Amino acid sequence: MPHSESTPEQQEAPARTQLTPTMEDTTLNLGNGGLTDEDLLMADVEDVESPPVVAPAAAIEPPSSAPTTKPASPEEDAPVDIKQETKSEVKLEDLFEGMDSDSDDEFSSKNNNNKDVITGQIPPSSPGPAAPAGSNPDLLRVFYQLLFPWRYYFQWLNHSPQPTPDFKFREFSLWLTGGVVFRFQSYATLDLLRKDVFKHLPERIEIGPIYTANPRDRKTFRNSSAFRPIAKELCFDIDLTDYDDVRTCCDKATICIKCWQFITMAIKVLDVALREDFGYEHIMWVYSGRRGAHAWVCDRKARNLDDHKRKALGNYFSVVKGGEKTGKRVNIRRPLHPHLARSLDILKEHFLTDVLEAQDPWREEDRAEKLLQLLPDIKLRQALKEKWEANPGRSSTAKWGDIDSVAKSIPSVNAKDLLEAKQDIVLEYTYPRLDILVTEQRTHLLKSPFVVHPGTGRVCVPIDTNDLEGFDPLDVPTIGGLVNEIDSDSSGMVKKEGEDEDKKGADWERTSIKPYIDQFRGFVHGLLREEREFVRVKREREEEEGKLDF
Ligand SMILES: [Zn+2]
Repeated sequence: MPHSESTPEQQEAPARTQLTPTMEDTTLNLGNGGLTDEDLLMADVEDVESPPVVAPAAAIEPPSSAPTTKPASPEEDAPVDIKQETKSEVKLEDLFEGMDSDSDDEFSSKNNNNKDVITGQIPPSSPGPAAPAGSNPDLLRVFYQLLFPWRYYFQWLNHSPQPTPDFKFREFSLWLTGGVVFRFQSYATLDLLRKDVFKHLPERIEIGPIYTANPRDRKTFRNSSAFRPIAKELCFDIDLTDYDDVRTCCDKATICIKCWQFITMAIKVLDVALREDFGYEHIMWVYSGRRGAHAWVCDRKARNLDDHKRKALGNYFSVVKGGEKTGKRVNIRRPLHPHLARSLDILKEHFLTDVLEAQDPWREEDRAEKLLQLLPDIKLRQALKEKWEANPGRSSTAKWGDIDSVAKSIPSVNAKDLLEAKQDIVLEYTYPRLDILVTEQRTHLLKSPFVVHPGTGRVCVPIDTNDLEGFDPLDVPTIGGLVNEIDSDSSGMVKKEGEDEDKKGADWERTSIKPYIDQFRGFVHGLLREEREFVRVKREREEEEGKLDF
């Protein structure tokens, strides 16, 4: 199912037209510089970092009709209407099976039938559900024109200064307000991507794999081997809804800094394992905009993994198995694999503070019953049960301590079994819980970094792993706040004394998104350095081989 709360039949694309302001409606006070549409849209890639300070909002043609399967002109790559395609050749369910993006929003297929999530409580810093800022075309227009880091985005995906197949044959999908999805979009240049985004103002952009050929031409290939995915960043998706059985502070779409710690500990465990166990270096963690995080492992060797190897990698991290009603969800062999020993070392402190103290998961009797089921020795379980029934409301920290103290008085308890059971419990409550299809399948779309979450208005910014404890998802810039910052900042429009015009900088530099884009730039530069080195070594080797052949 598409990420919408209505059925495809109910979705009417023209609704979008109503949401799109007319030229007269557009009243953003941006001090427009009178640039033409052409100036804005045809800017050279090199100009992207310093876009026109202000684009005339009305210069961007608002989509006035539903997307169509037929290009308006032969030269134009018209977006595809997923509904039309579905009617003609693919069942909607088939199309989205395993291709859904993260479940981190109310439009996810995973939560499609969950009314609570759809109308979920939106945290205080967000706009009201009636008019989510993340879907507001006025705000999106300014955001994409002035705040989205296009140049670094292109470099990140292209791995080279000039457009390569890594960019040209990459699938993008654009999600429009009103439930229309444009799948299998691709762009020969960054300019063409920007042009399409400015035209349609998607509330969400997703990134798919790099294919063997242009995704727009996919129907011209008769067999699946000619058109197939060949590369994709290795991705991980962690979502707080998968922790609903262990978090007590919030549930479903709501989050707070207390339960965010589950994401923090998951990032710590995965990040170190990806680096030390697999040797990856270029790992970017991105906030998903509401209640989760994504990892993008961008090393060349990770991008080139086939699905089989991705599945093996996913298995490596599948420690907590089954669902909430599965019973014991961690059953690992001894001696502990070094990865699990290291993970336990990282997690045990979080378990005491962020789980036992902050979440107090076993205070209630029925929840404490679950803890008992995870312990060995029937006599131990019985003695603990009696003790806790005599002390209603005993804290989880106290109950955890009781396990060892009560066990000492019961001769039948096997110390090794008890220690292992306790290790399993720590892992069950803290080890990363992954949406594994995101990791295993290259064709699985994942929400792009730096888009705005339509429900919360928050930007999907990178997370600094050097200051994980300092990251608060509720402090992340929102589209409304950022546009206000630009709107109220007149200093950028006036050349300061002694300041070179060229050094005035991009608009985002004067907003609170700056540290996140700076971080992204640093990440991309590191990746490009390695790509250049790879090309240099490859060329030298080819030259060397050429000499030998000669
Ligand atoms: Zn919470």
